[in-house]
Amino acid sequence: MRLYNTLTRKEEEFRPADGKTVRMYTCGLTVYARGHIGNFRTFLVQDLLRRTLRHQEGYAMRHVRNFTDVDDKTIKGAAEAGVPLLEYTQRWIDAFAEDAKALGLEPVEESPRATEDANLQAMSDMIQALTRRGHTYESDGSIYFKISTMPDYGKLAHLDHEGIQAGARIDADTYAKDDARDFVLWKATKPGEPTWDKGCGPGRPGWHIECSAMALRLLGEPPIDIHGGGIDLVFPHHENEIAQAEGATGRPFARFWVHSEFLNLDHEKMSKSLGNVYTVRDIIDRGFRPSALRYLLLSVHYRKQLMFSFDILNQAEAALTRISDFLVRVQGIQGGEAHPEIAGRVDAAREEFREMMAWDLNAPGALGVVFELVREMHAAMDAGEVSGPDAAVILSAFEEFDKVLGVLALRRAEEAAPPVPAEEIEGLIAERRAARHARNFARADQIRKDLDARGIILEDSASGTRWKRK
Ligand code: AMP
Ligand code: ZN
Repeated sequence: MRLYNTLTRKEEEFRPADGKTVRMYTCGLTVYARGHIGNFRTFLVQDLLRRTLRHQEGYAMRHVRNFTDVDDKTIKGAAEAGVPLLEYTQRWIDAFAEDAKALGLEPVEESPRATEDANLQAMSDMIQALTRRGHTYESDGSIYFKISTMPDYGKLAHLDHEGIQAGARIDADTYAKDDARDFVLWKATKPGEPTWDKGCGPGRPGWHIECSAMALRLLGEPPIDIHGGGIDLVFPHHENEIAQAEGATGRPFARFWVHSEFLNLDHEKMSKSLGNVYTVRDIIDRGFRPSALRYLLLSVHYRKQLMFSFDILNQAEAALTRISDFLVRVQGIQGGEAHPEIAGRVDAAREEFREMMAWDLNAPGALGVVFELVREMHAAMDAGEVSGPDAAVILSAFEEFDKVLGVLALRRAEEAAPPVPAEEIEGLIAERRAARHARNFARADQIRKDLDARGIILEDSASGTRWKRK
């Protein structure tokens, strides 16, 4: 397949170095809050890439997606919540798992936390290798990477050294550095902060070192095949990851760099710091289905910005309903003789779909192929040209499309489970009963309305309240 490589700024033919297993690393969530749908756009693009490589191109996957569980934000959050760091970050890891499942992300082979012992050890070992090779210096108890020792620093972001010096977003730490461009590898800790000593002195890891160290620990010898994340990570994070991994090993770090564009709200990047965020849960609470969100996230090419709105989420729901209704119609057809022209048309669509996905993950193009097939097959059914055997051919093509898209299986799973967990509904029914008892009819009514918006109807009768799906 062809993939756009940020390193070369070109689309290139991709296959794993060993021809069999793709060794891939995705920068994961910083776990100090529930991930927002902008974060999940990036994770979904990486999932789409993974599914295409696996189910369409036939490769095995060794895919690592980390959790950044120690940095200024997680430490601050844990202190404010008054709980240990590990317990605090676990909350957000659990929330991530819930949302990832709701969005149909395939499980990845490895989800390391930065603070696991073996990972901290790998970071410390890498820093010591960098020191042996003359790439570090110490200042005020912290260890820094000396960028002037890497002549090709800036090759991913395509910045020259001068440019970086002038325009870079400099690390917001207050430690003393020789040069503003240098970045911290191992930070001296303030009193009360978590501290480890794994051989390079007491402290805690800088953000960048964890990814270089965990990628090589879990994926093996460099270069790995693919490294990815959101476009904002190109500089400085990925540039620094390259400097660390290449400085420590003397070998190229990653062959392909795959970056996805932002999800925006009102023309601004969705981000926690701007406060303009929706989470997957917010979307569900407004009565939308995660499958519609997944569809929406797929429907814009990953290298284009996605302007999020509830209007386009409604359109995504409508598009997905068109496919589901079509499949219900096809499933209803039985008997009759096969029509070779239907099988021929379906085969051609399968091929076009594969070509679209193999062309730099052109999911919108692939969805175009799906909708053209839906249109033509509706017409063929209207004309009575689709038999039971043809229907089976059509359904198997949609199963194949969905291994990559992952929306129809998600839809089925949603259908099988109520949109609100049963225990939560029962709890709300009890709360509503108590509210009525206390003559707080406004609250009781609000509970009924909220559940209605989430797809659950309450029915009162003499024997109590029952609920059902809309
Ligand atoms: P963070 O937790 O900030 O490290 O971000 C996790 C991932 O989400 C990174 O790959 C970011 O590039 C990505 N990301 C953050 N905000 C957005 C956004 N608005 N749209 C797309 N990706 C994003
Ligand atoms: Zn990273």
